[in-house]
Amino acid sequence: MANLLGLEVKKIVATPPEEIERVKNWINSEEYKEQNFARQALVINPAHACQPLGAQLAAHGFEGTLPFVHGSQGCASYYRSTLNRHFREPAPAVSDAMTEDGAVFGGQNNLHEGLENAVALYKPKMIAVFTSCMPEVIGDDLTAFIKNARTKGHVPKDMPVPFANTPSFNGTHIHGYDSMLLSILQTLTEGKQVEGRCTGKLNLIAGCDFNTADYREYKRIMKEFGVPLTVLADIADSFDSPCNGTYNIYAGGTPLEDAADSINGKATMTLGPYATPKTFSWIKDNYAGKHVSLPMPMGIEKTDAMIMKVAELFGKEVPESLKNERGRAVDAMTDAQQYMHGKKFAVYGDPDYLVGYVSFLLEMGAHPYHIVCSRGSKKLEKELQGLLDGSMYGKGCKIYMNKDLWHLRSLVMTDPVDAMIGDSHGKFAARDANIPLFRFGFPVFDRVNMHRYPRIGYQGVIYMVSQICNKFLDIKDETCEDRFFELMR
Ligand code: SF4
Repeated sequence: MANLLGLEVKKIVATPPEEIERVKNWINSEEYKEQNFARQALVINPAHACQPLGAQLAAHGFEGTLPFVHGSQGCASYYRSTLNRHFREPAPAVSDAMTEDGAVFGGQNNLHEGLENAVALYKPKMIAVFTSCMPEVIGDDLTAFIKNARTKGHVPKDMPVPFANTPSFNGTHIHGYDSMLLSILQTLTEGKQVEGRCTGKLNLIAGCDFNTADYREYKRIMKEFGVPLTVLADIADSFDSPCNGTYNIYAGGTPLEDAADSINGKATMTLGPYATPKTFSWIKDNYAGKHVSLPMPMGIEKTDAMIMKVAELFGKEVPESLKNERGRAVDAMTDAQQYMHGKKFAVYGDPDYLVGYVSFLLEMGAHPYHIVCSRGSKKLEKELQGLLDGSMYGKGCKIYMNKDLWHLRSLVMTDPVDAMIGDSHGKFAARDANIPLFRFGFPVFDRVNMHRYPRIGYQGVIYMVSQICNKFLDIKDETCEDRFFELMR
């Protein structure tokens, strides 16, 4: 082989082609799978991102809010580029760019200078501060730093500056989302509770959901119901704003006034219980009205649960329009059922998404055969097992808790399935296994506009059923013999 200068490069150890072939086949074997599952100290391609990324998502869900990373510039670029590639929209955030001196002497000077610049340049209504690994390792005290910033006049006295510790060596993006959302709500609602006041509204917490269409869908459903709504935190317009020639750094988000008044709500409902446990627990102790925690409404049963709960909380009949929508979703499932029935799937991703995928697949008579979560809990395992045990299609399906996408590859190569559901990172295993990947999770880097289609609600059911079944029909058309190439399918 020649290098760029055209000179011959002599390999120190040449690998014979037959050795390459042997290893290629070996990593697809049962023997390799056993060794892969025996691995303990190494994680290869986990299906999650780091805490601050979730914190940034939560921050974008509030009006005029500038996400502020206390830590390394490189880390901030990672969260921004990940969100930017997923949504194909800007993800404006700043960093106080700590370097070696910050790591030795602490990052207070960086934070103070960064806050002052951020206020002057980007004129936010709120700055949401969260940390990368470095300040967490050295133990920077954000409470003291931000208090000092106010005393010294680096931020206006009345500007809310919620902050969250988001150490990435402990937890994932859903934990960062939870911490940031909690801090924002605690900050905005401080002193806002009014005895006897009720906004009459539903506070809806969507959880760490990266599909903008889901937020629009919640708003549409509640409009059909006639239920006034505050979405906490609403990223719909922040990451799906119209292309009209004018760039707006703060394109969307829940109005700060509404978020502050949410403490006087009629009811608060979280639909991302695994992504918001700390926030919801605090809400139960501090918010007026009823408090409800339900699974993300994916599939008919989980959507029904949400609809019935809203009807109960607000003393309303389920509107005819929603009943009809449900009927159309069931019809879409029935029309497509024979193309999914009996098919095996490997699913991976965040806990709330996983519960949704599994529930939906079982409703379609499909088998969620390999269920992989890279950061799960006993509670999640129990809930997933309960879903599997409650359906005849759950028999033989297995949950792999705290396993990564390299484990998943071994599973799909040794015990094949018909398709995978997850995010773009699974495409390599899907290609090796020669099966389709349905990109319903986060992040999706290699397809366009996916976040603009809902996964939740009855519309989400229609979308997911259509995506999956039409892909199976495509494969049939592309691979069948001529005599089976039919007009009708
Ligand atoms: S894991 Fe830590 S070092 Fe890596 S990007 Fe996240 S915050 Fe930065």
